[in-house]
Amino acid sequence: MKVLIYGAGQLARMMYLAGSPLGIEVHAVDVGSEKIVNPVTKQISDISLSHAIDHADAISVEFEHVPEHLLEQAALSGKLYPGIEAILTGADRVREKRLLERLAIPNCAHQIVDEVSQLEGAVELLGDKLILKASRDGYDGYGQWRLNERSNLPALAQSLTDLDLKKVPLVVEKMQSFEREVSLVGMRSRSGEIRFYPLAENLHHQGQLHVSVAPAPQLNESLTDQAESIFRKLAEALDYVGVLAVEFFQVGDQLLVNEIAPRVHNSGHWTQQGADTCQFENHLRAVCGLPLGDTRPRGIAAMVNIIGFDAFGLDMLAIPGCHLHWYGKVVRPKRKMGHFNLSGTGYSELGEAMRQLGGYLPAAFFPHLESEALRLK
Ligand code: ATP
Ligand code: MG
Ligand code: MG
Repeated sequence: MKVLIYGAGQLARMMYLAGSPLGIEVHAVDVGSEKIVNPVTKQISDISLSHAIDHADAISVEFEHVPEHLLEQAALSGKLYPGIEAILTGADRVREKRLLERLAIPNCAHQIVDEVSQLEGAVELLGDKLILKASRDGYDGYGQWRLNERSNLPALAQSLTDLDLKKVPLVVEKMQSFEREVSLVGMRSRSGEIRFYPLAENLHHQGQLHVSVAPAPQLNESLTDQAESIFRKLAEALDYVGVLAVEFFQVGDQLLVNEIAPRVHNSGHWTQQGADTCQFENHLRAVCGLPLGDTRPRGIAAMVNIIGFDAFGLDMLAIPGCHLHWYGKVVRPKRKMGHFNLSGTGYSELGEAMRQLGGYLPAAFFPHLESEALRLK
């Protein structure tokens, strides 16, 4: 079978690698040049996009920020999974908030702002600890601004006047205090079957995911039930097919949705070694109309992102349960270069592996490793 993926980055690469044993060929589309690319070798093919669309068994995306005209062209083939509405909802925070409101799914207090002059009103309603998010094209904390006190509002308003807010409205959210961040990665098949991985706990630094631990420590049935019921509502409302990720803030015992990602997700990378079937294979199975794979975790797993850093040897591979996934990209500050997956039979064994990993890596690039290792042990 052939699957065409819009976006030729690491997520397409990992789908390619997961598809190989099944004989599923993954071809990627570089959405800038509209060329067909091998997401591992980066070799450009001379097949045209329309030919690739005609010959694909299924079409999907590795990220939600695909130009709309390309999504429309793909949708016309009848082979785009998830569908265009789901992708556009994940790509636009205003649409996403509307869906959450319509489905009565708890989320952060927020206001939609499309004129700088409305910011004042948002501060009146939400207070002066705010996070402002451009409705479109944001990821890894890009396209976000923080307000910490009211006196900084004029300066912030000034820097926002350059943006054309009519085209890119802002979602202004109350800065939410929370116990922790967790995410649910799951998938829905073409026939409507839904499966979930266990909730993962996610540690961020400067708006970027650094570490995930799965299953999240101190899970209880109520958290899992809330997350799964929210996921079901979203997946069914969007007639979703494929892997979907839902990011949450845990506030007391309640989960608030932060955002959704209509694709395989960084907080699901641990499934490559840590679950019976990884998220990349399950996404391909779902979009190709194949039976879904078992999502059972194999033990306790962690994923550690390698961000903006490539100067290390591979001696850490001696740590039991330690695996490296390297994306083969040129290093840049804040760029996700690869990740480590760690595993153990329990949290303390995982914590020990994390402690050892920290010994090989500079703490400045891996800010959570040491404290997380101590906490798990
Ligand atoms: P991603 O790479 O996950 O797509 P993103 O750029 O879309 O990231 P968000 O997930 O909206 O951004 O925010 C990034 C991080 O910033 C969150 O995981 C959380 O740590 C923090 N954050 C976002 N919104 C809020 C909020 N309302 N209150 C407190 N912290 C927040
Ligand atoms: Mg996002
Ligand atoms: Mg996010």
